[in-house]
Amino acid sequence: MTDQTPIAINIGSNVDKERCIPHAIRMLRRHPQIHIDVMSRVFRSESVGGPDGAPEFHNVAVAGTTDLSPEALRAELRAMEESMGRQRSEDKNAPRKIDLDVAFFGDLQKDFGDWQVPDPEIVEQAHVAVPLADVAPDWVHPVTGLTTYELVIKQPEAREMVQPVMAIQLSTPHHPRHAAEFDFEAREDEVYDPHFESLVSGMLVEIGEDPSREGLARTPLRVAKAMDFLTSGYSRNLDEVVNDAIFDAEGADEMVLVKDIEFYSLCEHHMLPFYGRAAVAYLPDENIIGLSKIARVVDLFGRRLQVQERMTNQIADTISEILQPHGVGVVLEGKHFCMMMRGVQKQDSSMITSSMRGTFKSDARTRQEFLDLVRS
Ligand code: ZN
Repeated sequence: MTDQTPIAINIGSNVDKERCIPHAIRMLRRHPQIHIDVMSRVFRSESVGGPDGAPEFHNVAVAGTTDLSPEALRAELRAMEESMGRQRSEDKNAPRKIDLDVAFFGDLQKDFGDWQVPDPEIVEQAHVAVPLADVAPDWVHPVTGLTTYELVIKQPEAREMVQPVMAIQLSTPHHPRHAAEFDFEAREDEVYDPHFESLVSGMLVEIGEDPSREGLARTPLRVAKAMDFLTSGYSRNLDEVVNDAIFDAEGADEMVLVKDIEFYSLCEHHMLPFYGRAAVAYLPDENIIGLSKIARVVDLFGRRLQVQERMTNQIADTISEILQPHGVGVVLEGKHFCMMMRGVQKQDSSMITSSMRGTFKSDARTRQEFLDLVRS
């Protein structure tokens, strides 16, 4: 298992910011090696050092963990900025669509030449410090020895210059927590990702609907959040799911079977649900795994656009990879809405897929024992 380092990232924008900030947060949350636990409210601040009348900035901080190196994390942030059309210029105060900076990386203190960790602006700029204090009030700045909360309290003007304007609402499992010490009044406007929501609105128009009628007014937001959850498998990685729940088998050499694991997925051909039950078994060698983690591995691959055959193989390969057991068997039985609601309309048919590895493949008795246990 790889090491996870606590991190915080500052996000700023003053061009098309109502769209760009939620979009950047969505990209961060969906990166498989960046795990976001907490997100600050959205703060408004005057443009610093920019031309008079330059549009005000919105700033947000997020905190979480990563298994990337500091350099690799920064490269990922730069790539996200570029994908959103950010053009870097010499003028560091030029208007920009999106700015993604590593605020801190564990307790690392390092000068990388053209950038530093922690971000020196934490102690200099209220628009950097305030969102960070909202999201990680107890983090101790390694140079000053003060927490981010104390850094903000030392600058009374900071709380006037930088005001919360709204909170971005996200679907579980990433709902933001906010630090309670700040008693700012925030306007709780609900947005998810305006770009994604407008795609859903466009689909409603193509269907022949009126997206502005009362019943549909919030549908693009709801659909965007639901899709975020239903495809959240893309934004999780195996380390995070397994989370060190691998133990010494201590001589255990009997088959371990977990069955009737409910799964829900979306078929990649129609984006319609398929759902059913999974049975996962393995014959331990040196390692065993917490039983609840097997269900989480099933979810990791279910919450994506899938075909059932591939999902079955991915579960078997993953259990093989993390436990190195003598063998693995996986059986999925699924009902597919794309068959039940459309096409052949076979409401009762179900699809059974299996995947055998190691002794489950080579030894007929082991395989038979597994299949008998699944059916019993
Ligand atoms: Zn389908």
